[in-house]
Order: sequence, then structure tokens, then C-alpha cells
Amino acid sequence: LTQKDEFCVVILGLDNAGKTTYLDAAKASKVKGHKRAESSRVTSTVGLNVGSIDMNGVLLQFWDLGGQTELQMLWDKYYAECHAVIYVIDSHDRERIEESKEAFDKMIRNEILAEAPLLVLANKQDLPDCMGVREVKPIFNQSAHLIGSRDCMVMPVSALTGEGIAEGINWLVDCLK
Ligand code: GDP
Repeated sequence: LTQKDEFCVVILGLDNAGKTTYLDAAKASKVKGHKRAESSRVTSTVGLNVGSIDMNGVLLQFWDLGGQTELQMLWDKYYAECHAVIYVIDSHDRERIEESKEAFDKMIRNEILAEAPLLVLANKQDLPDCMGVREVKPIFNQSAHLIGSRDCMVMPVSALTGEGIAEGINWLVDCLK
């Protein structure tokens, strides 16, 4: 393994969006070449979970950060070391979609992340009355001018069923390689 084959991916989003469930799903996913997964819950106080997946020489190190308002202030402490961002949205929670969009905007405004590929996950697609990508995308596209030239993708997923998880990771790895 060379240094450049190891990437840090930060997982962001409001509390209850499904970040922790997503990390578990990513580790269990049938990503091409996926050999092993490791994880540890560092501390629930700061809401930090880490996990890694190894795909034929490409190691993805995930940092799942707490989404509560007071923990959002800690997000940018991790930005300098991360190569990519996964932003998880609860597509079933219409009441908090604007709050999620605000946290998203604050994150993408940070210059440190300007080059980092951004995977936006419209999570909880297994729930019948959730917002689909067609509904979520325009809301987040209002910030297109802030996204700039970085790679960005919005994908429908269910961390619970595993739907879309491998596709997202493959997209991210293609961006990072
Ligand atoms: P976090 O606070 O962002 O880490 O969110 P969690 O991973 O703890 O998930 C919050 C709640 O949403 C839990 O009850 C999960 O079981 C549930 N959840 C997460 N992902 C999904 C999903 O894709 N579908 C459904 N139906 N529930 C989900």
C-alpha cells in the first residue's frame, strides 16, 4: 500500500440522518474488491465513529461525525485531513430538510473542502413517503454556485437495506483514484 491509496472520508449530516447506519452498511457492502472492514466507536461523547474498508489496495478510512448542533462545530476540525465528503440526508424528514440544507451550506462554504469530491446521499429511500432524489436535488442545488468545480453526486440510498451503498462508494473511489 502506498500513501496515495489511503483516503479519509468524512461522513456528515444532521443527527438521525443515518450516518452510523450508513457506516455499518458501507462496511457490509459488496463493493468490488472489498476485502475487509474494521471499525471502532471512539467515543459517544463527541459522537465519533471510525471505520475502514479495504478494496484491493484502496483503503477508505471513514470518519462518522456527530450531527447534533453543538457537535457540528467540530466538523471543520477534521476537514484538513479529509479527501472526500459524504453528506447524509434523512429524506423522510421534511421538517428538518431546511436545517440540513443550512448545515450543508456551511460545510461547502469551507475553502478547505473546495477540491474534495462530495457524495450527497438521499437516505431512507425504503420509507414509502420519503422525498425522492427529484425532490431533494433541487433543494440542495440552490447551492450549486458554492459547489464549484468539485465532483458532486446526489444518490438515492437506504442505509437500512443497503440499496445504493456500493454504487456510492464506487463513485467515490473513482473520483479519488
Ligand atoms: P445518525 O445520528 O446520523 O448516526 O443516525 P443513525 O444511523 O443512528 O440512524 C438514526 C435512525 O434512523 C435509526 O433509528 C436508524 O435505524 C434509522 N435509519 C438509518 N438509515 C435508515 C434507512 O435507510 N431507512 C430507514 N427506514 N431508517 C434508517
